[in-house]
Amino acid sequence: MIARVIVLAALLAATRSAPEAADDLELGRRGVERWGRAHAVLFDSALPVQVGAAIHNFRGTLCYQGTDTACRKLLSDDDRLDRIVAAYLDRAILGKKQSVATLFALLCAAIDVESERTGWPPEEAKRYQVYELPQSMRGNVMLVTDRGIVTRPYGIERIAVLPGIHTIATARGSNERKLYELTMGEGTAELKPIQGTVSSEPDRGTDWSLVCMQEGVRSRIEGQPVWGPGRDLVVQRPAQFISAVGLSITIDAPAVECNTTCRGAIRNAALDSIAFWRAACSRCERNHLLAVRVDGEMFIDERLTLEGPAVLTPGGSGTTFFALSGRPVAQYVRLTATPPAVTARLRADATPLAKFLAGNDSGAPAMHIAVAGRPSRCGGSADVIGCAGAGMPIELNANDFVFVGNDSPLFGRGEERIRLDIVMLHEIGHWFGLPHVDPLRSVDKSRHAIMEPGYIGDGQCITRGELGLLDDAADLGWTLRLKACDGFRIQRVSAIR
Ligand SMILES: [Zn+2]
Repeated sequence: MIARVIVLAALLAATRSAPEAADDLELGRRGVERWGRAHAVLFDSALPVQVGAAIHNFRGTLCYQGTDTACRKLLSDDDRLDRIVAAYLDRAILGKKQSVATLFALLCAAIDVESERTGWPPEEAKRYQVYELPQSMRGNVMLVTDRGIVTRPYGIERIAVLPGIHTIATARGSNERKLYELTMGEGTAELKPIQGTVSSEPDRGTDWSLVCMQEGVRSRIEGQPVWGPGRDLVVQRPAQFISAVGLSITIDAPAVECNTTCRGAIRNAALDSIAFWRAACSRCERNHLLAVRVDGEMFIDERLTLEGPAVLTPGGSGTTFFALSGRPVAQYVRLTATPPAVTARLRADATPLAKFLAGNDSGAPAMHIAVAGRPSRCGGSADVIGCAGAGMPIELNANDFVFVGNDSPLFGRGEERIRLDIVMLHEIGHWFGLPHVDPLRSVDKSRHAIMEPGYIGDGQCITRGELGLLDDAADLGWTLRLKACDGFRIQRVSAIR
């Protein structure tokens, strides 16, 4: 509750158009990379995102009237910013203390602002542990994750990871790779060689520009502010997704239309969309949607692979990314690729999650995604890109549009190129019960809410207002909850108001 109030305060403060979130993520990446090189550290891909999000949060909160000059000056001074990031990482990664000053607090201190005044916590728990590699293993070391391989363009002497079980690889010569399982505890570490092969697919990461983060975009539904006072936090008629641990997805795409790459792109876009939306739900139960089965393949919340013995009770919610510490939301990783010990532990439990993992889908919500022609349930118009309703099948119009991922065509025909990730984020929002929001209420003209009825493409992202909508949609009794299917339409020149 307190977090929500703080978020609202930050929202009201950040009404100016800020640089792209992607720019601040880039600042974070640069600072972490520079620090990592100086200390020969291999770090996971979440760390630069976390640092970039903290910088973006600082910009959104402090680069406005009163403190804007000092704030902007600091963020445009590369060396000074990198030094502050390095001071943060020295403590948060290499330090011994269990509680460290947040990067946000250090940035505030640099411009003589007491961070407490903003309402954001000045300290955070130390999360990362460092493993010092034995002399013989130093050099070309990689972190093997389910999202691909993480490498750094310098020699590695130590690895910074969260407590849990990790796979690392060392390379000697041309192709030969040795694999190890690294079990990190609080102050303990165990390394043992394991058998297996590793593909060299690089870490695919996540497109964080799909989340507006601190952008001051406010959304409304039919004239009603999304962040109205007196939100009733008691759920009268809980939606299934509040408590379901698993979700089952089927993708219906003709092989001639959609090859393996295409199916993989649809699956990844769906998983990322669910991960973003579910992180926003503060009315949902702690273990909701921990696992997603897509056409028989199982994906689980990445925190389950990082936890120790209490693997089925991950702490906290991904909401912290939006609300407090600038930590990324939890993504889904493929279950079969996690270390065998973790897989065995997950399957051995008798909880609803274990039942779902073992193949018992009874009572689990289902999602159906179809690559199809003009969606008939949304009027059959050539202007409708995608169509979905709460809990209803998601139809993608391959008849009139070419869907692309990373600028490459995936499926479909026609003149217009459409970003699959944006359409999926929008349609899955409907699946959760979110209605369309009023496009005219955007404060920041360079940003558009993902649930606007028109497809805009770049710059369309989940706004703060829409994060709150998921809490509303969690109650089947919410009067504005989406009922009928709703089409996501192309904005043709004549149709723009
Ligand atoms: Zn729609």
